[in-house]
Amino acid sequence: MSFPRKTHWTKDVKPELDGKEVVLSGWVWDIRDIGNIKFVLLRDREGMVQLTIKKGSVPDSVWSAVASLNKEDAIVVRGIVKASKIAKAGVEVFPSEVYVVAKSKPLPIDIWGTVETDLDTRLRFRSVDLKRPINSLIFRVESEVTRAIRETLYSHGFIEVFTPKIIVTSTEGGAELFAVQYFERVAYLAQSPQLYKEELTASLERIFEIAPAYRAEKHNTNYHLNEFISVDIEEAFANYTDVMEVLEDVIVNVYGKVAEAFNDEFSKYGIEVKVPKKPFRKITYDEALGILERRGLKVNWGEDVPKGGMEILSEEFGEPFFIIHFPTDIRAFYTKPLESDPRISESFDLVIDGLEIASGSSRIHIKEQLIDALRKRGLNPESFESHLVIYDYGLPPHAGWGLGLYRLMMVLLRRDNIREVVLYPRDRFRLEP
Ligand code: ATP
Ligand code: MN
Repeated sequence: MSFPRKTHWTKDVKPELDGKEVVLSGWVWDIRDIGNIKFVLLRDREGMVQLTIKKGSVPDSVWSAVASLNKEDAIVVRGIVKASKIAKAGVEVFPSEVYVVAKSKPLPIDIWGTVETDLDTRLRFRSVDLKRPINSLIFRVESEVTRAIRETLYSHGFIEVFTPKIIVTSTEGGAELFAVQYFERVAYLAQSPQLYKEELTASLERIFEIAPAYRAEKHNTNYHLNEFISVDIEEAFANYTDVMEVLEDVIVNVYGKVAEAFNDEFSKYGIEVKVPKKPFRKITYDEALGILERRGLKVNWGEDVPKGGMEILSEEFGEPFFIIHFPTDIRAFYTKPLESDPRISESFDLVIDGLEIASGSSRIHIKEQLIDALRKRGLNPESFESHLVIYDYGLPPHAGWGLGLYRLMMVLLRRDNIREVVLYPRDRFRLEP
């Protein structure tokens, strides 16, 4: 079947186009019939517009095509725009051609009602679920978020790289790796690009990667998945405070760009994105423990700050904040200890709304120190040989962070479950679709 190509998104059909011809395409959201007039609400990715079809004023073929429409049929329409006082958007389109390009059966989930279907069922029919405008909005926002991240990082002199996701050994030494059969050997899915990005500082200096990371962790929470998108940066000739500033810029820009592009649309759904102010508050790990103790939560020195603790701290501060100077022993082996006190490290976590969004640090760039750090954690330096050799050839001091894109989406759009902001989430029990 041949049909003309879309000339406008529905959201761009404005009263100013009065009298102009447009070609629209999308899906039938709703049909209203008042005898000799039919109103079809046409939905595309960007919005909806009303089509008005009057019997007698259109060819019979158009009238009968419209009469046979079901909700969610895919159609292409050529028509004339009319400014209108009655139609909701102040505009309607009078079709002269209607092409029904795909028919739809009744949907397995309700995308029109005020009550949403349970998340399990929604995810089972994810592509159908995304027909609901509030649900597809999440992924239009996500695209804007990654654009803002890239723009910010480019403006700081970073370039985008791609490192392998099939690797021979753990980057951090944990056992939380998925094994894959790689011809005659066993390989693993990368849990992070950590070692590669550190090595690349020796030549490319400032790099970032936006790519999947795989963690074979069995925890079943609303903020962990087994596959997630990690935004990673690494900067040569820099320390943790430098890359914290980059991170602040990334966050402020993301919120700013999203607010600018979507706050009108968000208001329909009661979402409001408020742009945080730089610089973000920085509290040390020791200070955090003190505040938590006063609030009745005892965390022993040397334990990680639990989720509940981050929630209390966010209650206290509201805005995004950093926890800095974690005990060296609870951070990854490549984390650089503080020169003045090696028990604590040049490390940080970014927390927003009680959720860890990013972790970063200055890194050890001296080979002997790195070997010591590996040994201290019971890791065998020999299995890191191909990495360690790089430290012999002028690997500069460097620092970086990793940020969970989906965690950022959760706090940005105030979603409780990470699965809502992931198209096809992979968790302990979900491998399909
Ligand atoms: P957590 O303590 O929350 O399990 P982590 O400290 O183990 O996270 P990092 O190794 O610091 O995670 O990874 C960097 C960032 O990647 C985290 O700050 C978080 O935003 C994100 N992230 C880590 N693990 C997951 C996961 N399983 N699912 C989704 N995002 C994750
Ligand atoms: Mn972390």
